[in-house]
Amino acid sequence: SVGPAPRMRGVISRIDLRGNPADPRDSLPRAELDIASAVEKVRPICEDVRHRGVDALIELGERFDGVRLTRLRVPQDAIEASLRDLDPAVRAALEESIRRARLVHRDQRRADTTTRVVPGGTVTERWVPVDRVGLYVPGGRAVYPSSVVMNVVPAQEAEVPSLAVASPPQAGFGGLPHPTILAACALLGVDEVYAVGGAQAVAMFAYGAGECARADLVTGPGNIWVAAAKRLLKGVIGIDSEAGPTEIAVLADDTADPGYVAADLISQAEHDVVAASVLVTPSEALAERVEAELAVRVPATKHSERVAEALAGPQSGIVLVDDLDHGLAVVNAYAAEHLEVMTADARAVAARVRNAGAVFVGDYAPVSLGDYCAGSNHVLPTGGCACHSSGLSVQSFLRGIHVVDYDRAALAEVAHHVVALSGAEDLPAHGEAVTARIPTKEQQA
Ligand code: NAD
Repeated sequence: SVGPAPRMRGVISRIDLRGNPADPRDSLPRAELDIASAVEKVRPICEDVRHRGVDALIELGERFDGVRLTRLRVPQDAIEASLRDLDPAVRAALEESIRRARLVHRDQRRADTTTRVVPGGTVTERWVPVDRVGLYVPGGRAVYPSSVVMNVVPAQEAEVPSLAVASPPQAGFGGLPHPTILAACALLGVDEVYAVGGAQAVAMFAYGAGECARADLVTGPGNIWVAAAKRLLKGVIGIDSEAGPTEIAVLADDTADPGYVAADLISQAEHDVVAASVLVTPSEALAERVEAELAVRVPATKHSERVAEALAGPQSGIVLVDDLDHGLAVVNAYAAEHLEVMTADARAVAARVRNAGAVFVGDYAPVSLGDYCAGSNHVLPTGGCACHSSGLSVQSFLRGIHVVDYDRAALAEVAHHVVALSGAEDLPAHGEAVTARIPTKEQQA
């Protein structure tokens, strides 16, 4: 970084960008371990799965998850038993999460469009789901039944015919994925589940292994190893986006409640020691009050060690800016996975955001609402990818197929243009494919 050096104040560092006209991307907090270097570490893992299939997956499960499995596919009765044993309050919450996600994702389905270019000549864009998708549900440091909902609901609303879930085996549960994850699968009617985690799960979907047929697309969030495997295998398999370690940016002014800001920064730091929590504010007074709140709240929260490490990491910090316009420039340059806007007239400020995976407006839309029950999707692009990628949606599972339908008269009308362009590209056989059907005047003579 060529920007101003961060200064550590209590649990989180401060970066002062006031009066600094340089590109904020050079000074913003970012993780030291980037996906590009993680790609080199997961390459041998993915190659091993490609060449040795199930045997490699079993060994990798032992190495990374501490469990030696005899069968990777979760038996149907284990999935059903998990739902029977599920805490009723968690079941009710998952059902509500599914209901809201369905409402939102059902509205995302795009209609096919047909354009009549000329009489007798149409182009239709047909939206067709992929044949088979692999859905990754993380389960290393924390377990994510919510990610089952966020993956499966849009895939089902897109009417993907074949879907399989993979999630890391848990030593404490006989090598099965966490029972809450299995229960969420049961609630959604998913019966193909594999106890496979990390980069090796992405490779399993890309190449196929044993009972798991290869998939066309893999979606879902995960840690840096999962995101790196998606980057590495993109092309062998389709991916949604690089949804890696979570990030929250909060754009706030002195009207924001420092307790809310601190609670939200902590809520995302709880995901991972490399999670990023960033506050961008023109108010030094707010920065100080948030630091004071963090000093009280971090030691008191359940995962305080993980949170403290994430907040103290180079990927987290409080960024001081000149004013809200400068703040908007900074958050747009950062392109956070989650962006909260807690300012006066938050809706108007949020409307000016151009780069973010999801935007949370005002005091009553914390990121954790979106993590579970807003109806929005929580599988969102990280690491700055929000400037070119979208969060998971029904659209992620569809491809637009162009269907070209011209009759003879419509082709005849444009034949001379095709011939001219084929000549300009020195690809005369292109033109001949048209004149074979529609002879030129010279050919007719
Ligand atoms: P995970 O399931 O993503 O990863 C666990 C797996 O990582 C293990 O099964 C193991 O195979 C692999 N692994 C661990 N150490 C490794 C190493 N040194 N080398 C290679 N592979 C290794 O679970 P997690 O670790 O709890 O991470 C979940 C992540 O998902 C968090 O970073 C969280 O922030 C993120 N997340 C992101 C989003 C999003 O939309 N971006 C949503 C939810 C969660």
